[in-house]
Amino acid sequence: MSKKRAVTLRPYIQTRFAYEKLRVGSHCGHFTALWEEQCNICGKGSLITVTQKATSNVKRSMRNEQLIALLIGLIGIFVSQTFLQMILSAVAVILLVALLWFVQRRMLASEIPLELERLFIQEQVNILEDLKHNRKTAVASLKEDELLTYEMLREISTLVQNDKIRLQQVVLLQSFVLRKDMDLTVEPLLIDGFDPDLAAYIGEIAKIKRDLIKNRSIRYILAYEPYILEMEQGIDILTSVAGAAVRLKTYVETYPDFIRRYASRLPKDRFLRLYRIIRQYPDHPWGKLADEVAIIQKELYE
Ligand SMILES: [Zn+2]
Repeated sequence: MSKKRAVTLRPYIQTRFAYEKLRVGSHCGHFTALWEEQCNICGKGSLITVTQKATSNVKRSMRNEQLIALLIGLIGIFVSQTFLQMILSAVAVILLVALLWFVQRRMLASEIPLELERLFIQEQVNILEDLKHNRKTAVASLKEDELLTYEMLREISTLVQNDKIRLQQVVLLQSFVLRKDMDLTVEPLLIDGFDPDLAAYIGEIAKIKRDLIKNRSIRYILAYEPYILEMEQGIDILTSVAGAAVRLKTYVETYPDFIRRYASRLPKDRFLRLYRIIRQYPDHPWGKLADEVAIIQKELYE
């Protein structure tokens, strides 16, 4: 394996909705999922969030409605025959605009999500094109900086999910020294097929951040167990994942055979954790796992 680099990842900012990662150039309307200060495409104008963009669209169309109301009122005043008619028209137009303003102000909050939806539908093709451009920028920086590339891909992957982007991230992550305090993830990176880098990554996470190993990761490892066993570090990967799985009783219940196969290789603390779970629930039908654990306990730890 090539030499790994020690790096510091910039913190990943989780947003409530994926689209909140998307910003749009106020000058040219191009989209970006990265964090540049100015639009990379036209180099002009600031970048605003899509929510800000939608809000300004809604406000503009509301202003247009007010102008139309005002215009109708002015025409009314203009065509008035008498002074009284003129006064009545003026009063009517003031009331109309005021009412409109009041209604619009109440509708603003509910109009923004609708406008966002409209914006996404209308700009779908452009957004995809611009995200493709983002990815090219990310890959182009690969020669200079793997860390920056990874960070860019991580941002893009909030919006574009495909196995290619997932694997690119996994391969880059495998070139870093991973630490417990890093902002790492596993499940969003899982792909459909077998990949040795991904398997190695899961094995490493199972050691340093076992909380991240959940059902989907365990199932991935299980599905490709024969392939993983052919890898140089294969048994190590499988043992680490089994060791991470024993942290919860539910995983022991769900994958008893998998855990049994690697139980004898578990580090002491992981094995004792498994042993305690089984001791705590003696009536649970653990099957062969309970027998195996009893034998290992006798042989190694008694
Ligand atoms: Zn621009």
